[in-house]
Amino acid sequence: MAISRKKVLYLQGETFYLTLKNRAIMKDRFFNLILACCLFSLTVYAGEARYIFYFIGDGMGPNQVLSTEMYLAELEGRISRRQLAMTQFPYSGQAATFSSSNGITDSSAAGTALSSGKKTTNGTLGLDDEGKPVHTIAEILKERGWAVGITTSVSIDHATPGAFYAHVKKRNEYYMIGRQLAESNFDFFGGATFYQPYDPNADKSECLYDLAEQNRYTIARGYSDYNDKKYDAEKMILIQSFEGLEKDYKGGGMIPYAIDKQPDDLTLPQITTAAIDFLQRNDRFFLMVEGGAIDWACHSNDAATVIKEVIEFDDAIKVALDFYYAHPDETLIVITADHETGGMALGNSDYTLNLQLLQNQHLSVDQLSDKLKKLYVDNGASLKWDAVKQVLQADLGFYNTVEISADDEKMLKNAFKKLKKNKQNVKTLYKNLNKLADTAVRLIDKKAKVGWTTGSHSAAAVPVFAIGAGAEQFTGWQDNTQIMPKMLKSAKE
Ligand SMILES: [Zn+2]
Repeated sequence: MAISRKKVLYLQGETFYLTLKNRAIMKDRFFNLILACCLFSLTVYAGEARYIFYFIGDGMGPNQVLSTEMYLAELEGRISRRQLAMTQFPYSGQAATFSSSNGITDSSAAGTALSSGKKTTNGTLGLDDEGKPVHTIAEILKERGWAVGITTSVSIDHATPGAFYAHVKKRNEYYMIGRQLAESNFDFFGGATFYQPYDPNADKSECLYDLAEQNRYTIARGYSDYNDKKYDAEKMILIQSFEGLEKDYKGGGMIPYAIDKQPDDLTLPQITTAAIDFLQRNDRFFLMVEGGAIDWACHSNDAATVIKEVIEFDDAIKVALDFYYAHPDETLIVITADHETGGMALGNSDYTLNLQLLQNQHLSVDQLSDKLKKLYVDNGASLKWDAVKQVLQADLGFYNTVEISADDEKMLKNAFKKLKKNKQNVKTLYKNLNKLADTAVRLIDKKAKVGWTTGSHSAAAVPVFAIGAGAEQFTGWQDNTQIMPKMLKSAKE
């Protein structure tokens, strides 16, 4: 049978179409197979974690992380990133942080969302937006027989740690939050201190340390005290070594900043090490570690201090990562932040960054403020500019590696005059800074090309990093309320 050329073309076309169709079918089958594999792996991984770590960098937005990596690379003379442990995790995403009442969340609403998967109003801790207590992941896992640890670099009754065990209408009810801690029956707490060990509204109230001891908690002050007491302890509260911290220490209730740390000061990696050591007695545990002081440094718009805090937070993550390598199939580590603080920006004028300049800053703006204030108190009206200049040279590298122009000096001298008149304090959320310290640190940040939009929080999305059993669930854009349910799904029954 003769076949016309038109028919041949048609048949060829048909064959081509059929080939495409077959390929499409095969491709569909291939994708179905891949999807099935993915779902299978999800069902395999979900529910397998016996050890769950929840790291929360308070105030740690994307630029807090990136500036740290680019700063470290600049120290090596490179325009690049020296990667932190957290950004090397195989799964990452971002989370929006708004609360049910505000586009910009506070730490208590954000902490509640992260601990329970429920949005609430700013200022509320552990209650949903109708005032009902939420069920946190720490409480749920404790009820299932897991050991639970809640730790932070600020006071153990602060909003983020409190969001895992406390249920109060106002986050500043520190005494009530502390009482709920002492009655939580959780296994391990680590951090600076109780912020309010006595009820400020009562003439006589029960001391929270006594209450905790009555509830069979051992109080360890400092890392070596922990090591001495851990064998006899049923439950543990590990806090900073020196007493009196709770009254007023560097603005109140925090372990000293990494940049200000003295050899005996507790560190977040030590707290994490102690927590793992203690919780490992149980065959399943949940540990929350908060890098709480990142937020405080961001509230002060103090970039050098922020970077050192992010490094310390990452060092604590490395401690958990070592544990993960020993138990890779049964461990889940999730890192995120409750919100961004400061509206931290990288770039404020031209197309350059000069982050390495921040290495000249040897103390936090808080400590600089205290130091300058002491200088004023010791010398009074006779305090000379030269004495102040020496401090700025030694602690910020001004006039040496950090160039100071005539305009810069004029600005610093104006602030110095205000210091001498003992006025014009700058109020941040946690600290009253004197104008001179604030001006000097703002100047070095400006020269490093770091910008700040606010002394408060921002609505910027925060990073999410995950590794281990169930980690693949944490990719993509998500809401902060989605993190806790995914984590719970990963937990072994
Ligand atoms: Zn916060």
